[in-house]
Amino acid sequence: MSDCETPAFERRVADNLRAVRERISRALASAGRRPETVAVLAVTKGFGPEAVTAAIASGLTDVGENYLQEAAAKFAALEPHSIAAARRHFIGRLQRNKCKRIAELFDVVQSVDELAIATALDRAAREVGKKLDVLVQLNIASDDRAGVSPGEAAAFASAVRDMPNLRLRGVMAVGPADPAKVSSAFAQAHATFASLGDAFDGEPILSLGMTGDLEAAIAAGSTMVRLGTALFGERPVKQVSTPDGGEG
Ligand SMILES: *Cc1c(COP(=O)(O)O)cnc(C)c1O
Repeated sequence: MSDCETPAFERRVADNLRAVRERISRALASAGRRPETVAVLAVTKGFGPEAVTAAIASGLTDVGENYLQEAAAKFAALEPHSIAAARRHFIGRLQRNKCKRIAELFDVVQSVDELAIATALDRAAREVGKKLDVLVQLNIASDDRAGVSPGEAAAFASAVRDMPNLRLRGVMAVGPADPAKVSSAFAQAHATFASLGDAFDGEPILSLGMTGDLEAAIAAGSTMVRLGTALFGERPVKQVSTPDGGEG
């Protein structure tokens, strides 16, 4: 395993995490929010198994992946006890015929935005014999095709909540590319999240904010930021995949 051969990388990730925690603390303070209220999801797409190992070694417990094949290969390359220490989140585009594998490999699916997909995940979770945590992905950016529109969110959330093998935990959204539009888009995400209030199981999750916009997300009430670049640096290779990210 390369796990033990990358102390420099692990040190860098630990340093990066400290810097990120400071950014988060400052953002929470300026938003007047309590310090402990934002979770960090380590987004390991584009990196090898050593990124998962480094994230866990630095004390993070949640890892996120966008591409099923990449994630399957990465998780398989890790020691079972090591990957078992992480809560695995799927944050990429979903395809119906991949739901069984997704349910096997992941604990949380953040990108649920179609009823047919939710139904397939529900069936897959039953077959796999687990309850799958899911978030509804909201569309708050005109430049993004993914996600349920805020106006449809209540009906969609209520349908998902009724699925016996899914636990609806909250909402996820990706901000617009245009920095000038981020604040209002995040405010809309938070308003929709708040309006769904009692639809959620457990402590509600608002998964909002990435490396470039985490301060705005925290100002808007994010409870989970999804960070790749801030923790691991620039992704080494661009994903080679179909435009919708749905690789085979
Ligand atoms: C890649 C990705 C992230 C992490 O992006 P960074 O800018 O590297 O922090 C977060 N969320 C989603 C949905 C992603 O696809």
